[in-house]
Amino acid sequence: MRVRGAGNRKPASERSGGDGVRKRGGMGGRKAERGVGRRAVLIGGGAALVGAGVVARDELGRLWWRLPGTEKPRVEGELDHAGAVWTAASGANWRRADRPDDYTIDRVVIHVVQGSYRTALKVFKDPGHGAATHYVVGGDGRVAQMIRELDVAFHAGNRDVNERSIGIEHEGFVDRPEDFTDAMYASSARLTAGICARYGIPVDREHIIGHVEVPGTDHTDPGPHWDWDRYIPMVRQAAARPSPGTTRL
Ligand SMILES: [Zn+2]
Repeated sequence: MRVRGAGNRKPASERSGGDGVRKRGGMGGRKAERGVGRRAVLIGGGAALVGAGVVARDELGRLWWRLPGTEKPRVEGELDHAGAVWTAASGANWRRADRPDDYTIDRVVIHVVQGSYRTALKVFKDPGHGAATHYVVGGDGRVAQMIRELDVAFHAGNRDVNERSIGIEHEGFVDRPEDFTDAMYASSARLTAGICARYGIPVDREHIIGHVEVPGTDHTDPGPHWDWDRYIPMVRQAAARPSPGTTRL
């Protein structure tokens, strides 16, 4: 989806936003090259682009209010799941995107931390970790949102799957079934039900998968003790309710 400098042709900037706008000057780059902005292009445009400058100016004026998602204003701390608490992952562990407009979201990937809730939050805030999920669910059912759903989290170890999925970590260890509590299942099921409702994802094992099922992965989570036969019906049940994520247990 990334559109690189496409000369003077107007679709370049209209299609892609942030990155496309950068090189829209076209005529050898010059000012527009580092200008990134509309402003730089406008200033350079008068002299350098001559006739084209007029057109560019008009287009940019219209583009200003319809910039694609990578330029959309975002509110710090804004949540996608009503039951979550926001705590930001390091920006090194995810990529800005505009889902579901640029990538279709049709998978939920279930993970197990191999550690505590606190550990998950800590490593996802670490820029050196290189990975993070959108959500972390604790054994007591609490939910942290660390990355917006419109952005691509690095969690599945597979670019295609990352781009099309929401990742959910669960506190605990794969070889300790007692870590997967009733409160965790219930909370996670509500979260997943809400995600499925937002993007029209079918509630089944084809679309709600374990990390272990991601092509090419060497991860085994959520492991054999994650009770899919219990979880999927719980998601369905939560999905059938009027407002997933906001109703009681
Ligand atoms: Zn995993």
